[in-house]
Amino acid sequence: MSIAALSPDLVLTNATVLTVDATDTEAEAVAVWGTRIGAVGSARDIDALADGRTKKIDLKGRCVLPGLTDPHVHFADGGAAMMSRVDCRDFYSNVRSIQQIAEKITEQASKQPPGTWIVAHGSPMQNFRMPEKRFPDRRDLDAAAPDHPVAINFGAHITIANTKALELAGIDAAAPAPAGGAIEFDGNGEPTGKLVERAQFLVRSVVPKYSYEQMKEGVLFAAERCLARGITNIHDIVTNDASIRAYQELVDEGTLPIRVSILIRVIEAAIRKESLLNLGIKTGFGNDWLRIGGVKMSIDGGITGHVAKFYEPYVDDPCHEGLIRIEQDELDETVEAYHRAGHRVCIHAIGDVAMDMALLSLEKALKAHPREDHRHRVEHLGNWLVNDARMDVITRNRILPVPNIPFMHFIWESLLDCIGEKRLENSFNIRDMLKAGLQITSGSDGPAYWPLDSLRDLGTAVSRRTWTGKTVGADQAVSVRDAIRMFTVNAAYNAFEEKIKGSIEPGKLADFAVLAENPYAVAPEKIKDIPVDMTVVNGKIAFFRDGADGLEA
Ligand SMILES: [Zn+2]
Repeated sequence: MSIAALSPDLVLTNATVLTVDATDTEAEAVAVWGTRIGAVGSARDIDALADGRTKKIDLKGRCVLPGLTDPHVHFADGGAAMMSRVDCRDFYSNVRSIQQIAEKITEQASKQPPGTWIVAHGSPMQNFRMPEKRFPDRRDLDAAAPDHPVAINFGAHITIANTKALELAGIDAAAPAPAGGAIEFDGNGEPTGKLVERAQFLVRSVVPKYSYEQMKEGVLFAAERCLARGITNIHDIVTNDASIRAYQELVDEGTLPIRVSILIRVIEAAIRKESLLNLGIKTGFGNDWLRIGGVKMSIDGGITGHVAKFYEPYVDDPCHEGLIRIEQDELDETVEAYHRAGHRVCIHAIGDVAMDMALLSLEKALKAHPREDHRHRVEHLGNWLVNDARMDVITRNRILPVPNIPFMHFIWESLLDCIGEKRLENSFNIRDMLKAGLQITSGSDGPAYWPLDSLRDLGTAVSRRTWTGKTVGADQAVSVRDAIRMFTVNAAYNAFEEKIKGSIEPGKLADFAVLAENPYAVAPEKIKDIPVDMTVVNGKIAFFRDGADGLEA
């Protein structure tokens, strides 16, 4: 018997199926054989394929989308951190002042033996939003937990350590800052506790590391939250062997709940630059669950720590001009080596100096060694300062900018304070970039900054609304259609996976997000709040929302 003669294993019917195919066809039902989509069409035609062995789910008018993708996350590390760190973030917890941070640290200290590490995390740019208008310093943390080493990071670029933590890290008044990092000193020449970029590693290297077992738990913990928002794919930036081993074991055990494309960080990481080149493995290696999606490197620091490298000084802090972590020579050499070895390169560039360095490096490598389908990315490009000249380089070389819509949603006001209105003119210019023919998607940079939620980001691309209800750059709002494409087909293309993911078409993987409402039918600012009632991965129900009205799993 041919496989086509068998009835489908799963039928989702009585739905609005947004297929996101080339012409954005709408269907009513979809049939799945095993792990793949077999047929898409009217409820009548698809229902007719089902028999007694078919699991048939009546979606009662709900909306089906292809499983969503978040293409820039720090997941394996972030997931473990979410489980173990003291949460002092302001967006999702109620910690709004240094006083409240101190209370949380004190509370944690009462639960653990003296001398053991307290590691906490806050939100990026939280100093802008707290009444004290600053980060805590080492003395605040000493007062909160005098007998414990304490480290708290605010985003990826700033860590504050208390006196005990500084001692363990060997940081005193005479400590030299490592290249690509900074140690802040007060008027008496004593460290304040603030460590920037590479200087954070001085503390991180003495904090107990996550084992790959903890990473596995962290991945499962964070993946559950993804599934609850219809996310079935992530592109995770990994920096160490433990996270890669964790993923591989989860695949072996058949328990990895979402599909992962790993972007391997090769500079400032526990993985040496040569390792991947020596192996001869190129981008694409892996399977439908776990694949090498490319390599990653970071030119400058983050804006959230005033260490992104701009030509002009920071508005609120003219002494800061940012940090360059990789010089042009090293960048060119690394980009060329990976480009020639068949890898897709992802370069983090936040400030305009770094953007120009990234574009220059990529153009040089492509000129010297042309390759048709490279899909090289620049992370965070598209957030701001994509002027005509840069747009030209981007389109001419078919480079993929990966902007971060949550930066607009969550920290717009802080960005304004930090780099000023002028640099934020025409920022997050998603509409222009789509118009230029670029397959734009958007990464969240979560889960430690804020949770992964591609529906939130999709809705924000349409509404341009910030967390505080402000509308930003309405002329760059995109249509619902384009926003859906960003997090489905465009993201699949971004991972070289458009043949198996990104749309609901026969032959593709059976990954779906079932939404309680159709994004076309609700007000733009409400899209982000649409409940996800069910998520299907690989033809199996991976998430089912308790209380989803009239729906039976
Ligand atoms: Zn990132």
